[in-house]
Amino acid sequence: MRTASVVQPETLRTLPSDAARQVQWGFADRYDLQMLVQSTRAVARGPVARLVANGGRNSHEWTEGKAALLEAFDGAGITAVFMDPEEGGLFAGPKNLALALVAFELAWVDGGAATASLAGCLALAPIHERGTEQQQRYYMKLAAPAQPGDDRKPWRGAFCLTEPIPYVGVDTGMLNGKIRIVEWKPGEEPVLQVEKRGRFITNIGFANFVTAAVDSDDQRIKGSCIVILEEGDPGVFDRGTPTRKMVHQLSSTGDPIFSLRVPANRIVGGYDIKDGVLVPRYNHSEVIEAVFRRTRVTVGVMTAAKLLSAVEPVIRYQRGRFRGAETATPGSVRYELGLQAREDTLHRLVDVWATGEASASLGFAAARAFDELDPLEKKMAKLYAERGITGARAKAKLLKEASDQAVSLLLLRPGDARKEALQSDLLLRFVALDSLADVLCPAAKLWNTGWGAQMMREAVSLMGGYGITEDCPGFLGNKWMDAQLEATYEGPEAVQRRQLSVTMTNPVFLARLKNWIREMREIASEHPRIGACALATAMTMWLWTLDHLQHSKDADGGKLYQSARQGVTFPLADALCWLVAARCQIVDVLRLQKEGAADASMAEGLPGLVNFLSDLCEVQSARASGEVARICAELVFGYNRHPAWDEEGTRGCWHEDELEMLEGFMPGINSYRFDVVGKDGSHPKKAGPCVNCATESPFLSLHAKLAGCLTGSRLAKDRAAEGISKLMIPEALDYPA
Ligand SMILES: Cc1cc2nc3c(=O)[nH]c(=O)nc-3n(C[C@H](O)[C@H](O)[C@H](O)COP(=O)(O)OP(=O)(O)OC[C@H]3O[C@@H](n4cnc5c(N)ncnc54)[C@H](O)[C@@H]3O)c2cc1C
Repeated sequence: MRTASVVQPETLRTLPSDAARQVQWGFADRYDLQMLVQSTRAVARGPVARLVANGGRNSHEWTEGKAALLEAFDGAGITAVFMDPEEGGLFAGPKNLALALVAFELAWVDGGAATASLAGCLALAPIHERGTEQQQRYYMKLAAPAQPGDDRKPWRGAFCLTEPIPYVGVDTGMLNGKIRIVEWKPGEEPVLQVEKRGRFITNIGFANFVTAAVDSDDQRIKGSCIVILEEGDPGVFDRGTPTRKMVHQLSSTGDPIFSLRVPANRIVGGYDIKDGVLVPRYNHSEVIEAVFRRTRVTVGVMTAAKLLSAVEPVIRYQRGRFRGAETATPGSVRYELGLQAREDTLHRLVDVWATGEASASLGFAAARAFDELDPLEKKMAKLYAERGITGARAKAKLLKEASDQAVSLLLLRPGDARKEALQSDLLLRFVALDSLADVLCPAAKLWNTGWGAQMMREAVSLMGGYGITEDCPGFLGNKWMDAQLEATYEGPEAVQRRQLSVTMTNPVFLARLKNWIREMREIASEHPRIGACALATAMTMWLWTLDHLQHSKDADGGKLYQSARQGVTFPLADALCWLVAARCQIVDVLRLQKEGAADASMAEGLPGLVNFLSDLCEVQSARASGEVARICAELVFGYNRHPAWDEEGTRGCWHEDELEMLEGFMPGINSYRFDVVGKDGSHPKKAGPCVNCATESPFLSLHAKLAGCLTGSRLAKDRAAEGISKLMIPEALDYPA
């Protein structure tokens, strides 16, 4: 272990407490959510953990043991989180943070259990977001857990979008599921025939209802929609065979086949009849957009939980690695520190932990943003109605005007009174928040799960061979594999990158990003050791790069920033995610420092915890900045053609005879020889003359500056490593292996 030559600042003594997490993740004032966390945790670390430990993941079938978990979810109030009190739910108001916390607690132990719980919400979400009032009342009540004395079994749902190849996957527009009208008596509800095949559908082993995406197969129906299917509907409701998946085995997945007759009032959101044609009020894309926008956040939170859950088992393994050996006597470094006597093991754990912190902060920030956005969306619907604004074009016009105004207000200096309108004016507040949510959601899904899966591998590797056995405490091997599913379902990385490549160029978001740069510099002036300054420079570099790519062409004159050019837009989206995650992490730690100080129960270990978490921020910020620098450099220079040793390429080079002539009146100039072309055309052995980067010189200045901004970041890593080596952990994990 490195011995410090100066007095080390206080560091953390124990793992972060619940109280600290409540402040960091923004629910310290929500007693209801704190209770929900406790009851979910009891299920996760009780029945869920026991089922995994007893081999419950070794079967693809929907077993009694797995089914019992659903009842445990009902009993703990988990199923009811999605509903409002009048529907049998737990609490009123937006539920995004609540669902994220449930997902976090369940995924801490097993991702499949979390998915089993969330898939029910996913099935209900189309109805919740776009269903008619009647549909909402009916299905929410059916899906709510039974009250005491009521022996009704709650209905379970499945969400069916994906179809067998070659249809719906990433490209959700390629629908093969069909509806047509088979009966339409005058004055009565039309009857629809639904044909839909699903692929990889969660909850299908036991679902009582399914929300399915279908397209019209009838001239009397316009476009696509989401339709609700029930298991008692006349026709075929075949659940199919279970998917032989290698992940999330505690959830049920299969390829169902539906051929059912249903009344047209099962179309989510209802329909109108125009000129004898049935027109669904929402097409399937509009519904799934509203649904995924929220549900993807919880998926991102699941992977964050995995990373943070790995910390304690890894520390315990590392510390105890050599205990029992003759040479490892109590009191010896080998006995006390075990593998933690080695710098690399600690540094890698610092990286896993820092990633977990950043991803949790990003995921919960996204969930809170949607909690704030939900009521605004309702108010906006009212505003449209009051102003008689109907139709997408009229709405877009209004939003565009508001966006322009929001941009000018966001760019005003801090403290300018005019900025207040961003809070008080509904339209301005909406466009500002909406543009943020549009970035936070795909960023949380993309970065948390994609990069999280990579870092889970790192966590597994820290346990050596044990990590890839079923006996590994904390089920880390399972979690590594499960993370890959989280990166895949509800739209894999390509879908999130595609969305980000559009939303991250929204001028309202870009104005906010400029504010973040200022914010980070201000934070850095008060908290120089939290990585905020490096992050501000990296954000500046990202903005410069985006602008450059939007206005530049490649060596063949092709436009660089455009939707078909995923090689440009996707990496830039990845780069942004690093920045957004690292910023959320810093903001959360500062909230803990500020608000935690006011809480007597936390006061004792708070400075050490904040110091440690700040070091993790600095580590993460350095990593994020490095990633941004790497990605941006590749994009800025990678599309230029390297000069060759040809006529055009050597035009800017020195020529030997020129230099000889100059040497006469500028003695010594030959010592600056660089890229000189000989009289016989010979040249230095390399790819070509070095590149002249005149147009990119601002980028190079930023690049150099950013390298300098990393000063101290490895010292932060050393401090964090030292902190981990001293931290006290419980004797044993609080759930079985
Ligand atoms: C266990 C499990 C549970 C699931 N649960 C459900 C469920 O409940 N309901 C449901 O409807 N679906 C469910 N799915 C399906 C899941 O959402 C899809 O598998 C996922 O969206 C990817 O679609 P795909 O498998 O067809 O991949 P593909 O579309 O074939 O994609 C393959 C690869 O190509 C890339 N790619 C594809 N298109 C593009 C593009 N345009 N640009 C760039 N790259 C592209 C993708 O990123 C991916 O890397 C589940 C899947 C699994 C495995």
